Order: sequence, then C-alpha cells, then structure tokens
Amino acid sequence: MRLNKLLYMINPFSKLGISDDVVNAVKDLGFENPTPIQEQSIPVLLEGNNDFVGLAQTGTGKTAAFGLPLLELIDFKSNKPQALILCPTRELCLQITSDIKNFSKNISGANVVAVYGGANIMQQLREIRNGVQIVVATPGRMLDIIGRKAIDFSNVKFVVLDEADEMLNMGFQEDINDILSTTPDDKKTWLFSATMPPEVRRIAKNYMDSPVELTMGTKNTGNVNIEHEYYIVRARDKYAALKRIVDFNPEIFAVVFCKTKLDTQDVAEHLIKDGYNADALHGDLSQQQRDKVMQRFRDRNMQLLIATDVAARGIDVNNVTHVINYSLPDEIESYTHRSGRTGRAGKTGISICIVNSKELGKIRQIERIIGKQFTKAELPTGFDVCEKQLFALVHKVHNVEVNESQIEQYMPRIMDEFAELSKDEVIKRFASLEFNRFLEYYKNAPDLNSSADDRGERGERGERGPRSSEGYTRLFINLGSVDDFTRGDLLSFVCNNGKISGKGIGKIDLKGVYSFFEVENASVESLFNNFKGVEFNNRGVRIEKTADGEGGGGGRSRGGFGGGGRREGGSYGGGRREGGERKSYGGGGGGRREGGDRGGNSGGGFRDFSGRSREDKGGSGAGRREGGNGGDRRRRS
Ligand code: AMP
Repeated sequence: MRLNKLLYMINPFSKLGISDDVVNAVKDLGFENPTPIQEQSIPVLLEGNNDFVGLAQTGTGKTAAFGLPLLELIDFKSNKPQALILCPTRELCLQITSDIKNFSKNISGANVVAVYGGANIMQQLREIRNGVQIVVATPGRMLDIIGRKAIDFSNVKFVVLDEADEMLNMGFQEDINDILSTTPDDKKTWLFSATMPPEVRRIAKNYMDSPVELTMGTKNTGNVNIEHEYYIVRARDKYAALKRIVDFNPEIFAVVFCKTKLDTQDVAEHLIKDGYNADALHGDLSQQQRDKVMQRFRDRNMQLLIATDVAARGIDVNNVTHVINYSLPDEIESYTHRSGRTGRAGKTGISICIVNSKELGKIRQIERIIGKQFTKAELPTGFDVCEKQLFALVHKVHNVEVNESQIEQYMPRIMDEFAELSKDEVIKRFASLEFNRFLEYYKNAPDLNSSADDRGERGERGERGPRSSEGYTRLFINLGSVDDFTRGDLLSFVCNNGKISGKGIGKIDLKGVYSFFEVENASVESLFNNFKGVEFNNRGVRIEKTADGEGGGGGRSRGGFGGGGRREGGSYGGGRREGGERKSYGGGGGGRREGGDRGGNSGGGFRDFSGRSREDKGGSGAGRREGGNGGDRRRRS
C-alpha cells in the first residue's frame, strides 16, 4: 500500500491510471513522463467505452498512448483475442508488437502475436492457436488468416487502426472493411492518423459511434520539433547539393527520400561510390534484404538511408537527425509522413527539401498543409564545409577515448617519430590527414545555390560538358573495363607508360571500351609524347584531350557513333576493335555525364554508373539518356 502510494506520488503514468506492473515496465524503458499524446489520450481510452480518433504524428509516443490503456482493459485470464491492432507495414507491425510485449512484460499470461506478410504463416498460426489476447497485424496477412478460419474474433473488444491514412494510401480500404466485419458490432474502434483526408473521415463516420476526437498539435501539423528548410538548386546540381548538405553535417543520420526505386538505387550507389556510408531501401529488394538494410540503419552502422515513400513507411528509428527530400513527394500529404521520420520522441530534427525554382509552388502547398513556414536555406560554400569538417575532426581528436594500457607500448616509438616536430606541427599534420581530403574536393567548388527566379535550368537536358578539376586536364583513353582494367590497373598503365607519378593523375572514370582520366596540366605534354607508339594487346593506345564543356551526347552526335561532336576528327580506335565492341562507342557522351564530380558537380554523373555505358548502343549517348531516357526510367519504375 505504501509502495503504491509512493508510486502514485512519483510516477506520472500512475497518475493517468496505469497499473503498477505496466508502470514498472515503462520505467524500465526509460519513460519518465508521458508524452503530450499519452497525457491526453490515456485517461480517455482507459474508460473503454468510447470510439476514438487521434490525430497524431508518428514518433510522438502513439504506441504507448493506445497500448497502455489496452493492457488495462484486457482480461489476461482469458486466452481469446480481445484486441486487434491493424497497421500498414510489417516494420510497424513488428515495432508495435515489440513495444506491447515490453509494456506487458510484468503481466502474467499476456500474449501478443505479430501477423504480417512475407514471413512463415505456420509459425503465426501456431502462436494464434496457443492463445493470444492481442493481435497486431497488417491487413493482407490478417485476411489470409481469417480466410483460413484460423482465428476467432468474436471476443474482440477493441480495434486499433494505426496510421489509418497510410493504410488507405496503400489501398487497404477493402481489406479493412472485410476484417472489421468479422469483429463484434459493439467493439470500440480507436483510429490514429497523422493526417485527416476525406477517406479517413469516412472511416470514422462509417465505423464509429460519436468518437472522441483528439488532435495533438494542430490538424495536419507536422511535429513541432521539426524544422523545415528548402534549398533551391538547378536540377543538375541536386546530387552535388545533397553531398554538400551531408558534408556540412558530419554527424548526420538521415533518411533521404527519392521518388522512384531507380532514383533510390542511383543515389545510394553514387553515395557509396563517393565514400559515404549509405544504402538503398525500396520495394524491389527482398524482405530479407530490406530487413538487413533496416537493421544496419537501426544499429547506426549506416549514416544515410535512401528510400522510397513506400519502403520507408513505418520506419521508426529514433535520433534521425535529418529527413532529406531529394525529390518532393507526388502526394503533398506524404511530406508529413516523410518528415515525421525525424524529430521523434521529443528530439529535434530537420526536414530538408532540395528543389529547383519551378518547385517553389509545391513548397508553398506543403506549408499550407503543415501549417508551418519553411526557411529558405543557402547551401554552404566549399570553405564552410571544410571549416565544419575540420572542427568536427578536431573535436573528435579532442574527445577520443585513449586506451592507455594498449597505446603505452607504442608511445616511445611514436614519440621518436615526432621528435623533430613541434607540438604545433604535429597537430597540424594530424588535422591535415583527414582535412586534406575535403580541401582537395572542395577547392574551387562552385556556388550551387540557384535563385528563385532562375528558371533557365540550363544543362538539364544534357548541355553540360565534363569539367576537369582545377589544374588538371581531362583525357580520353581507348581502354576500359572490357580490356580487364580496373581503375588501379589503368592508373598503373598510365603512370608506367606516361612516365608520370600517381600523384599527377586525378580522377579516373573507367568506362566500357574507353575511359577518362585527369592529368595535372604540367604533365600533359610529356604524357602525350610518352604515349606515342604505346600498344595494348597489339592495339594502338590513343589518348586525347576532351573538349571541356562541349557535349557530345546523342543529340549532337553524328551518325551512329555518338560523341562525334566532342571528338575532333570523329573516329578513333573504333576501327581497331573487333566485332561488336564498336557499338559501345556511342557512349562517348558518357564521360560528359560523369564530369565534374570533384567540384561538387556530380549531378550528371550520378545517373551514369554501374557500367551501363557498356551496353550503350551507337548514337544513344549520354545526352539522350540524361534528358529523355532518365525520364523513361523514372516512368517505368
Ligand atoms: P511511437 O510514436 O510510439 O513510435 O514512439 C516513438 C518513440 O518514443 C519510441 O522509441 C518510444 O519508445 C518513445 N517513447 C514513447 N513514449 C515515451 C515516453 N513517455 N517517454 C520517453 N520515450 C517515449
């Protein structure tokens, strides 16, 4: 009794009417105070005699808001299903199940089952047969089990429709109708939704009897902990802008949203290639692959999750610092769901949109929906990024945990190495070690910000040529991966034959039957001289300067050998290759697409990866792909 009284005095969940067993369980989870949605809804739901509509974002503590009252209202002496929770995705289903198991860990006889597709149904049927009081389910699998007459819902007292708007978006309306029709008429329905489109309203009207309606925050309002920003860039600079945002936030842990599976894959692969810790999550992955990606993200073994809207539904990872809308969603309402992946559990978060000037109207529409204004942000300059990275490194060095006992044995030798250097010098060198990478990348980085009235969008359709890094000249070579070259092989080949050290070589773009590489300006002439007469597999090796800024894609190419415009004299090397390799020459514009990575201009490059250029047919050079075909691919996916 005394303990109860004490708990009542000190624990705010007890004050809301939650019993000791459950209070102790949530305390173990670190819940000290109810979130606003819990504070508002728990007392109402505990009454157990109302239908309920809660307008609430994900990440606000919604699961406990309905889960804790449910645990108070269920008779755990009976082993019959008494509560059914329907949610849109497998991920959310597993999360809710795990949360409810945690909340109920001190209640003897409490059984919760997760019912979702893509997993062994026999195991789920077994669990149901063994007796459960709470069923958490995605609609499709639930219907399947109902169809097998493997579950009896005649004792269901409560149905929770979680993320109702998402379920309807995903086309579950009919499934929900069918499932609800198997539950008793006098059950109570609790509906949670982040937004309240007319379809959700209709459900509330059709299935509920004068529901108590609670709005956490303003209707349709995004989480108050989230700041919304947009950056205006030219479409071609999007990828470079993304990289700059990421580089400016060294501790970023973000979900990046793309519109299509293909874009998702493209962006992820380019980020990985550029050295970022990223991966893609989209519907073409098997469930096992998706689980693996999600687990890596949850464990924070990955910094950037590149996802489509559908794949990202139900992502419930805490501490996501940023949501980046690489493309705006088609359905403006989806923005609320996307941004709700950050700013969870009372944390703050930033939702960023990378848009071109033509998309400003959409930003204004989103503002109206979320009832909040965006801040127009400016992409940091290369200098800003370097500075930010430098100090992140300095802080890291300052705060690193030193393993005294292990490092001690090496200290005399380390001190010896540095004996000649002053403290200042040593520090400078340590800082430079990592910092130089960024300095190199960002030196001469262009301003990527585009103004609202910059409607030119030059280059979007393939007008952009390759850009050499400052101080380097970009050269073509008629050797590539079909010659079994890796980038490393090509580097040694160029260095050995061109009699130049590796330091004089910049970026290497390995293609199918040709490649591009950069050489420091001072060495270009000697390289050309040294390459005279060089052969590979009895074939003359040719190197040529590329004409920076000149296209050469399909639109401008002559005949079937795309890239002709770029290449003075037209044909080279082509005649020397045997058989079908010729067709690949159309990819001449491929190099153009890849251009400018270094200067932060990898927007074009990001569409051209994974050796696709090898399959390029004559004349179907990059220019076409970047403009028309890129669109095609988007449509298809
Ligand atoms: P939900 O909206 O239910 O997905 O919850 C979002 C996150 O907030 C989850 O990680 C919960 O564990 C956490 N959470 C929920 N309620 C509380 C609370 N009262 N105190 C602290 N964390 C909470």
